[in-house]
Amino acid sequence: MHLNGKVALVTGSTSGIGLGIACALAEAGAELILNGFGELDRAKDKVARYGARPGYHGADLSDPAQIEAMMQYAQSEYGGVDILVNNAGIQHVAPVEHFPVEKWNAILAINLSSVFHTSRLALPGMKERNWGRIINIASVHGLVASKEKSAYVAAKHAVVGLTKVIALENAQTNITCNALCPGWVLTPLVQQQIEQRIASGIAPEVARDTLLGEKQPSGEFVTPEQLGALTLFLCSDAASQVRGAAWNMDGGWVAQ
Ligand code: NAD
Repeated sequence: MHLNGKVALVTGSTSGIGLGIACALAEAGAELILNGFGELDRAKDKVARYGARPGYHGADLSDPAQIEAMMQYAQSEYGGVDILVNNAGIQHVAPVEHFPVEKWNAILAINLSSVFHTSRLALPGMKERNWGRIINIASVHGLVASKEKSAYVAAKHAVVGLTKVIALENAQTNITCNALCPGWVLTPLVQQQIEQRIASGIAPEVARDTLLGEKQPSGEFVTPEQLGALTLFLCSDAASQVRGAAWNMDGGWVAQ
């Protein structure tokens, strides 16, 4: 598939799923803009191996003014964004009554409100060019809940709802909006949850296996490469009538 001439912005693409998706888009020929706080040189080198020399904007997505600056950078340097992958996200695990208010606010801002801001700023250009793809990395937690993840589950369910609204508002254009709902993917975000289990005295192999075994029937992690391949499909003409979907790739998690 060729995405030559298309500009893709992937938020939170310095590690994990976002970096995997950025590599897939680069391999398909898209021009890339990276964003995130991770190891930038490592991320740029990895994307460059797939043929792209990516741009970068370090916007903190909890701040709408910085999101506006990032979208202005995309406009002035690249002529706008054709493929918007809203991927940046954070997690915090605690029961509701102990959930820190600042963590609630940060998760809602980064995991949900940033999707609204990037989308509202990208859509006018997509409409002018009558082509666009908005792909929101939600989660199985956009479809079902787990205890101790109140802010994350609330934000991801809301992202699935927002995805449907954007899809409907653009249903008679060549702009589609869909959500991906991954199960466990072994990234820094999940490694942090495995480390918490190890810190509570569980052996490393057991911590990893029980984390998977509690939820994911396949017993295997989803990979960033698999999510990159699904993203490429959603960018293709074959997916032009996939609109407002919340597409789970989860080893069977939500089939239970
Ligand atoms: P990750 O920690 O590897 O990546 C998160 C990215 O977001 C990083 O690049 C980080 O720098 C960036 N980021 C965090 N806060 C930011 C901010 N304020 N501004 C800009 N960038 C910021 O995690 P991941 O697992 O690759 O997660 C990516 C997305 O996938 C998240 O939305 C997450 O909720 C979702 N997801 C992950 C899993 C999983 O099992 N790993 C499952 C379902 C959904």
